Amino acid sequence: MSFRIVLLGTGGGRHTTMFQVRSTGGFHIDHDGGRIHVDPGPGALTQMHRIHRDPADTSAVLISHCHPDHYSDGECVVEGMTYGGWKKRGLLMGSVTVMEGQGGLGPCISKYHRNIAERTGVLHPGDSFEIDGLRVDITKAVHSDPTNVGFIFHTEHGDVAYVSDTEYSDEIADQYKGCRVVMLPITTPLGERIKYHMCTDDAILFEERIKPELAVFVHLGIVMIKHDPVEQARVVEERTGVRTVAGRDLMVLDVGDEVSITDEPVYCDDWIPPSSV
Ligand SMILES: [Zn+2]
Ligand SMILES: [Zn+2]
Repeated sequence: MSFRIVLLGTGGGRHTTMFQVRSTGGFHIDHDGGRIHVDPGPGALTQMHRIHRDPADTSAVLISHCHPDHYSDGECVVEGMTYGGWKKRGLLMGSVTVMEGQGGLGPCISKYHRNIAERTGVLHPGDSFEIDGLRVDITKAVHSDPTNVGFIFHTEHGDVAYVSDTEYSDEIADQYKGCRVVMLPITTPLGERIKYHMCTDDAILFEERIKPELAVFVHLGIVMIKHDPVEQARVVEERTGVRTVAGRDLMVLDVGDEVSITDEPVYCDDWIPPSSV
């Protein structure tokens, strides 16, 4: 059984996103049952093209909330999943704002695109369901989109979490107790806490409380990028004793008996991108 995460993008927040200082394409999970695309923000399709990932290989799309750095390529990824809209296919799930709209946010996926997916659903904290044999739990977040959710994926090799945009609290962190790998959205560096997000200080609190085997920083804001995310991760690792890595675009994490990290692009060579034909 294999469980691979490909970080298409590791940027987050408005300025990283609008200037594409880093990609904001979310990530792929390749598991035995298929390929899940989580949070396909701006750059998702460009990054997939770079490493020869065919959008038609997508079997599920999960969107945590209705902010553009998490959803804006979503409709095109759904078109890819459905072979250009020709075949009703795949699973599309998102927060209330993503799928239905609420409080002035969304819906951010059109009715047409919701209709071409074979199955759709709305994500609520406390939900638990299976995607092609992979069990997923939905967790709570505290964010400016109040319907935002996080994810825990139950792999054969332990639990892997994507915390998604949230501010820190012990209650938020406690949801991830027992997780082996946590992907933490650390938007800002040490001493730069902003509302509804986590900074490096929060990563220390989170990791000290949860003690995962590995923490990976994603959703890096522009100030964080200027402050050297590798150095920020090193400080957290030193303080907590938890292996802590600053994610980089196209980094690959393989979760098996050990968690191995490949810090360079891994190409899918069985697909020839149309531009190369
Ligand atoms: Zn965000
Ligand atoms: Zn957000």
